[in-house]
Amino acid sequence: MLIREIQAKSVLTKSNIPGADFCINPYVGCTHACKYCYARFMTKYTGHDEPWGEFVDVKVNAAEALRRQLERRRKKGGSVLIGTVTDAYQPLERELGLTRAVLEALSGEGFDVSILTKSDLVVRDVETLRELGNCAVEMTITSLDDDVRAAFEPGAPSPARRLAALRVLHDNGVRTSVSVGPVLPGFTDLREVFEAVKNLVGGIRGESLNVRAVDWPRFEAALRRDFPERAAAFRKAVASAAYWDEVAATFEDLCAAYDVPSQGFCLH
Ligand code: SF4
Repeated sequence: MLIREIQAKSVLTKSNIPGADFCINPYVGCTHACKYCYARFMTKYTGHDEPWGEFVDVKVNAAEALRRQLERRRKKGGSVLIGTVTDAYQPLERELGLTRAVLEALSGEGFDVSILTKSDLVVRDVETLRELGNCAVEMTITSLDDDVRAAFEPGAPSPARRLAALRVLHDNGVRTSVSVGPVLPGFTDLREVFEAVKNLVGGIRGESLNVRAVDWPRFEAALRRDFPERAAAFRKAVASAAYWDEVAATFEDLCAAYDVPSQGFCLH
């Protein structure tokens, strides 16, 4: 694993993601190393030869750069998403605290802050999140099976830890939601996920597997190694538009059945 320190000129970046004016990524790269990671395209902007998941560039001055940007802004506030092409709570954050420093810099600046993560480390900052007020955490859960996590999200915390984190955030009054993204055919049990999170979140969204984003050689290697008996059915489902339409319909049915507000199912 290559860890490199870099200086960022700016960290508050205009976003074209619907509902977000800005995004912040305190790191470039992510040691959660998900085989389906949609952010792998970032590799080409980094100059790294290492594959995605095997390097992290650490924006050591992230909070300082953010404070400078905020001082220069005439207008306060807006909506900001943290962790759009990295996980801001990947393991390095425990020691470095860049995300926490970024949250502290945002305090009192009138932002609606949303954090996307797969990590229970976010719980460390629960007090800061409460103080921010307009803050929400979206936890990604693709399966409750830790063997599936180990195969396809090898560096990320277990599903049980993610659920426990949602519980703590929810109990502390932080807005929470879940992303079932992406649904992995034959591995994601939507009903099981709804059952587990129904009392912990204010919304849920889903997403099909983005076949253009997947690192297929690595994904296939994990599939053949850990789940060879499921590989053929997986490939067939991924390629079937009818399959995904059915998943999207099931997702909406489950939102209604479990009374969890739907934040939509994105079909790539
Ligand atoms: S946690 Fe997110 S950013 Fe990190 S590797 Fe997984 S999908 Fe990519």
